Parts: sequence; C-alpha cells; structure tokens
Amino acid sequence: MTRSIGSLLLLGASGDLSGRLLLPAFGQLLDREEQRRDVVLIGAGSEDWDADAWRDRLKTSFDSGDVSDETLKSVLEGTRYKLVDVTSVQDLKALIDSCPPAPAIYFALPPSVTVAACSALQQVSLPEGTTLVLEKPFGTNEESAASLNQLLAELVPEQQVHRVDHFLGRSTVLNLIGVRFANRLFEPLWSNEHIERVDIVFDEQLTLENRARYYDRAGALMDMIQSHLLQVLALGAMDPIATINAVDLRDAKAEVLRACRPWNDDPVAAGRRARYIQGSIDGRDVPDYTAEPGVDPSRNTETLAELVVEVDNWRWAGVPFRLRSGKALRERRKEVLITFKRLPHLPTGLRGEPIPERLRLAMGPDRMALEMNVNGPDDPLALDRVALDTNLNPGRLPAYGEVLAGVLDGDPLLSVRGDTAEECWHIVDPVLQAWRDGRVPMDEYAAGSDGPSSWS
Ligand code: NDP
Repeated sequence: MTRSIGSLLLLGASGDLSGRLLLPAFGQLLDREEQRRDVVLIGAGSEDWDADAWRDRLKTSFDSGDVSDETLKSVLEGTRYKLVDVTSVQDLKALIDSCPPAPAIYFALPPSVTVAACSALQQVSLPEGTTLVLEKPFGTNEESAASLNQLLAELVPEQQVHRVDHFLGRSTVLNLIGVRFANRLFEPLWSNEHIERVDIVFDEQLTLENRARYYDRAGALMDMIQSHLLQVLALGAMDPIATINAVDLRDAKAEVLRACRPWNDDPVAAGRRARYIQGSIDGRDVPDYTAEPGVDPSRNTETLAELVVEVDNWRWAGVPFRLRSGKALRERRKEVLITFKRLPHLPTGLRGEPIPERLRLAMGPDRMALEMNVNGPDDPLALDRVALDTNLNPGRLPAYGEVLAGVLDGDPLLSVRGDTAEECWHIVDPVLQAWRDGRVPMDEYAAGSDGPSSWS
C-alpha cells in the first residue's frame, strides 16, 4: 500500500466491460470492506449522458452485483460522468485536472483506442501517483507490446501500471500457491523426476455470444493461451517464493516464462487449431462459427487452440505443458491436471495396472482432487482407484473486485509486469505466424463435441 488513490477514472464507462463487470465489482468491493474507502468514481465515455442517465447506469450495474443501497447512495454523492473523446489531449487534460488526486485511470476501451489515449496522455501532466490500468489484449505481438510498454514508461513508473489479467483472482492465485507451498507433500515431487505431463485446460460451452467484433480478430490462442493460460503455467511451474508480494511473485513467474518455448522449438508441430461447425450444446442448436453474426470467414479464426510448451530449465526439461482452450465444447472444464510418472515397481502380488496418480486443481470454483490407487474393497490384492476431493475456499470478492482492490491499494501483485507481457507474446508469436502462413491445418469439430475426433 504505497499510494493514496483518491479517484477511479473510468474511461469507456459506457461500454460493456464497465457496465457488466467493473461497476458491479466496484460496488461489491466498497460493500465488503470493513473500512470505508474514500474514492470518487468518475465515469467518462462516448455517450452523451446526463446525471440521471449515469445514476441509472450505476443503479443497474450495482443491482446486478447485489450491492447495498447504502453503498449506492454513498457513491452517488460524489460521482459524475463526462462525455469525452479519450483521444483528445484537451478533453483528457480537463478531465484529469478535475479528479481528486491521485487518480487511477482505467482504460475500459477498445485496445486501439487505449493506445491512442496513452499517446494523448504524453501531452498531459499527470498528477503524482497516477495509476494506469490496462485491459487485455496488451498489444497484438511482442513488438507492439514492447512499444506500448515504452509509451507507458514515459508516463508513470512501472509499479504504477496495472496490466489486468482478471482470470486469476487473488483467491485462485493464493489457492494455487497455498496447495503447492503450504504442504510438504507436493514440492519434493514437483519436477520432471516425478511428473509426466501437465495439462492446463479452459474449455467453455459458451459460443461467440455476440462478441465477434473482438473475438474474430483474436481467436482462442490469443484470447486465452497467450494471456491467461500462460499465467497459470507460470504459477504452477515457478520456484517456491519467499514472500507473497508483487516483487517476489512476479520475479518467479517471469523466470519461468523466460524459459518457455513451443515444444521442441517447433512452432508448427507444437500447436493445433480448430473451428466449430454446426452442432448442439445442451439441446441448444449452434450454427457454424463462420455463420455467426459479424464473423468474417476470410480471417480464418480458430475457436479451439492447443499449444504444447516446454519449460526449458533444470526442474521441467522434458515435461510437456499442454495448454488448451476452446468454445462451444461439450463440457465446461477449467483446470490444471498434473499426471505423475509411472511407478518404478509394483510389489509382486498386488494385481491390476496401477494408473499414475493425478492431481486436479480446478479453477472457479476452486477444487482439488488427488486421484490415486488403493486396495480393492472385495479383494485387497486387487487395485482400486479413488479420489481425495475437496473444495478450496472462495475469496470474498469476484475476480474484478480483486483487480480493483489491487489498483486502489497500489498493489500490483495480480497485475502482469511489462517484461512478462512481452514474454508471453514471444512464446506464441512464432505459432501465430505459422498459422497465418497456413502451415498448420484448421480442423473442425461439431459444437457440443469434445473437439476434433482426430485430436483424441
Ligand atoms: P466496448 O466497445 O463495449 O466499450 C468500449 C467503450 O469505449 C465504448 O463505450 C466506446 O464507445 C468507448 N469509446 C471508444 N472510443 C472512444 C473515444 N474515442 N472516446 C470515448 N469513449 C470511447 O468494449 P468492452 O467494454 O467490451 O472492452 C473494453 C476492454 O476490456 C477491451 O480491451 C476488452 O478486450 C477488455 N475486456 C472486455 C471484457 C468484456 O467482457 N467486455 C472482458 C475482458 C476484457 P462507442 O461504443 O460509442 O465506440
């Protein structure tokens, strides 16, 4: 807690992210805190809203997050909304000058508009302690991420830049760290000596859900693997940390990501891509992806991606980390699955094939299951399979509430450091290039299936 944030300036306050996620999370954060937080909310966007329209926006958003009337009332006392062009130096200057110091400026804007707004800020003198909060995607490749980092570095120090990865709320991050480092059991086994493979999977049943404007230009590899799943990999593969603070945690993650590359350094063989075609999910008919409103088939966007990554260091050499994410799949699955190596020897006399143990760490809701071999119920010499299964405790706030708490507390623990943002592109850029060059086929899968049949 190093800075005192006096205002949250939401640029793009009339957009989808603000209305659906940020404003409800802001209300929930204020609602659930023991001490009243003195922060003024200022909305700015492209809609010509008067005070009543802004009040309606806040009320609708807060209601969707079950925020108390008391919190709504206290926010309404200080808040205001301004119609601005966020790429105009004059508009930004007037807006920022009117914010109680220090402002946290949240760019809830389309990525290209965020870059234009940051460029305009070069001509605005920012108050001491200003925090900048950027959404994903951060750049479109390593080069553009590096130039955005350079631009930000000219505006504020790195510790005042929050690159949001809301996928990992604080409680999920802490649950992963807790399981790994608050138990003696796992860490001695956590390496290529005992682990055969790691699967990090985020499968959704959701289809495009009218998000073509963004998703059709991104696709599954950019949308999920380049950002969220590589962050999960880093948490799962990092060395033990001395302290849970932003410096130690982000150093440890960066070290892992610097060692990552496509499996065998072969960007063609390391990845697979596919796109859904007509099918049905839970009785709901789904059209071909290319027939969804707003999709341009010539973009050749994948809706399912898989990338096998190698963490080229002493601990992990030779262990494949398979990252997979897709839409319109049969079941929702969001987990890290660790498969241990086969036993060196099963005592003669025990019958059955011992299946390697598997540790499942599911995310949102967080759960953990250790699948292992035990003796059978009827014949104690025959092997049986059981799972030790438990819920991990949920946090007190939704992911965006945790993100905003970090921003307003000046704690970048959950945010992605600049070098890491570039590193993640460095890992996937060669794969994206191979796909753009047509060197990897686009497979198909029926909506509601488990993916292409050739993949199983
Ligand atoms: P939207 O397009 O819904 O919202 C962006 C808002 O910015 C719109 O109200 C838009 O107005 C406004 N805007 C655009 N240009 C200007 C300008 N020059 N001056 C003032 N306002 C402007 O996008 P989202 O809210 O969906 O996304 C915002 C960011 O959050 C993106 O980076 C996205 O990737 C990220 N994100 C979004 C998620 C979501 O679920 N929506 C989830 C995770 C991340 P207008 O419509 O009039 O152009």
